[in-house]
Amino acid sequence: MRVVLATHNAHKVEEFQAILGSVLPELEIVAYDGPEPVEDVTSFAENALIKARTAALHTGLPALADDSGICVDVMNGSPGIFSALWAGHGKGAQANLELLLDQMADIAPENRGAHFACTIALVVPATGADQTGSEHVVEGIWPGALATEAHGGGGFGYDPIFVPEGHEVTAAELTAAEKNAISHRGRAFEAAIPLLRTTLIPD
Ligand code: IMP
Repeated sequence: MRVVLATHNAHKVEEFQAILGSVLPELEIVAYDGPEPVEDVTSFAENALIKARTAALHTGLPALADDSGICVDVMNGSPGIFSALWAGHGKGAQANLELLLDQMADIAPENRGAHFACTIALVVPATGADQTGSEHVVEGIWPGALATEAHGGGGFGYDPIFVPEGHEVTAAELTAAEKNAISHRGRAFEAAIPLLRTTLIPD
């Protein structure tokens, strides 16, 4: 069974193949190479869904897509869906992280709660065998708090300023394996695996 992954990011395709390949060898994850929707919606779930719908429409295959970001409590969940572009188009991860630290500079440690969120959408197109098709969304959350300065060289994005709950170090100071075992993305995958099994793999 082929499943298309709605991203042009080769790293993400490899990540999905590595995680799902070991537990669901029946699924062949293939990269999507087609038109992309304008991400003009207002939640992680809607963003993941429009990407998956577009890929399913253009390939006729079941399509997976993800969307993720960091949500700060005192900022009412921002940067949220704007995480990748927080400092502006074309500015990049370091500028995003510095702007967020600056905005949070006066906020006391007990009020620096934040979480990462990752949503994975699965869209199964209507086929001869299944005229209706279906849409599914699962989510993983990684609770923690914002540090006051960046630490660590691992990970990407906001990892150097995110201290996961139960840890004294930032996500950028964890190994990739430690992070994947507890992260928002790891938890979203954990939820996606039984969904993919029941939805796509016949008994
Ligand atoms: P996307 O889901 O690949 O579009 O990622 C959205 C943005 O959220 C990224 O560009 C990062 O800024 C942020 N983000 C998502 N997941 C992580 C993570 O695991 N660590 C650090 N930043 C992340």
